[in-house]
Amino acid sequence: MSAEPSSQSPWQAATITRIERRTPRVTSFWFRPSRPFTHLAGQHVDVRLTAPDGYQARRSYSIASAPGAGTAIELAIERLDDGEVSPFFHDVAAVGDEIELRGPLGGHFIWEESDGGPILLVGGGSGVVPLMAMVRHRTLRNTAVPVALVFSARVWDEVIFRDELIGLDDRLDGFNLVLTLTREPARRPSDYSRRVDARMMAQAIERLPTAPRLTYVCGSNDFVSAAADALIDAGIPAEIVRTERYGV
Ligand SMILES: Cc1cc2nc3c(=O)[nH]c(=O)nc-3n(C[C@H](O)[C@H](O)[C@H](O)COP(=O)(O)OP(=O)(O)OC[C@H]3O[C@@H](n4cnc5c(N)ncnc54)[C@H](O)[C@@H]3O)c2cc1C
Repeated sequence: MSAEPSSQSPWQAATITRIERRTPRVTSFWFRPSRPFTHLAGQHVDVRLTAPDGYQARRSYSIASAPGAGTAIELAIERLDDGEVSPFFHDVAAVGDEIELRGPLGGHFIWEESDGGPILLVGGGSGVVPLMAMVRHRTLRNTAVPVALVFSARVWDEVIFRDELIGLDDRLDGFNLVLTLTREPARRPSDYSRRVDARMMAQAIERLPTAPRLTYVCGSNDFVSAAADALIDAGIPAEIVRTERYGV
C-alpha cells in the first residue's frame, strides 16, 4: 500500500548498500539516496518499481533507522508470498541495485525528543519498524524519556530486532520491552502469550513512572483497531493515540 503523495519529495535513485535477514519473513535493506535527506523518527518513504513494459508499483515503507544514524536508511520489509512488491525485494534485489524512492513522508506519526514522554508504543509484526526508529532515536540522543514498547509477534523467531530490543531492555534505563507471542508460550517472565488486550495495556502503562503523554500504534488494520480499542479501554484518552495502518 502507498501512503499520500507529496509534491515536496521528488522521486530519486537510491542504492542498496546492505541486506540483512532479520527473521524468516523480514529482511532489512539499507538504501543510500542520491540526494541525502534527514528524516524524523516514525516517517516513511515510498518506493517505486518500474517493469520493462513501463508498469509501475509503489509501496510505502517505514524508516527503521534513527534520524542522523548514517547516510543509508534501513527499511525492514516483510515478505508477503502473494504480494507484488515485497517478494521482489526478498527474491531479486541485491546490493548495488538502484531503486526509486521519495521521502521522507508523514507528519503525524512521528516522535521527536522535544515531544517528551513517557511514551507507550504498540506494534504488531512489521508495524514495529517506525517504533524502532523512535526507540533508536531515544538511544542515540541518550535521553531518559520513559518508553514502554508492547510488541506483538506470532512466534519468538518472528520478533524483529529481537536481540537489539532485549539488549536495550536489559539496560534498565527507562526503556521497557513487553513481548507478546500469539502462537507460542512467552519466553521471558514479563512477557505474554496472547493477543493485545486492555489488561495488557494497563500493565504496560504501570511500567511507566506516570501516565503516557503520547501513544503510537502501528501494524495491520485489524491490529491497529484492536490495540487502539484496548488502549482506550485501559483509560488512555483517544486524543493521545496516534496510529499508522499498513493496510490489509
Ligand atoms: C505508511 C506505511 C508504512 C509501511 N511500512 C512497512 C514496513 O516498514 N514494512 C513492511 O513490510 N510493510 C510496510 N508497509 C506495507 C507495505 O506498504 C506493503 O503494503 C506491503 O509490503 C505489501 O506489499 P506487496 O506489494 O508485497 O503486497 P500487495 O501486492 O500489495 O498485496 C498485499 C496483500 O494484499 C492482498 N491483496 C492484494 N490485492 C488485493 C485485493 N484486490 N483484494 C484483496 N486482497 C488483496 C495480497 O494477497 C497480499 O496478501 C507500510 C505501509 C504503509 C501505508
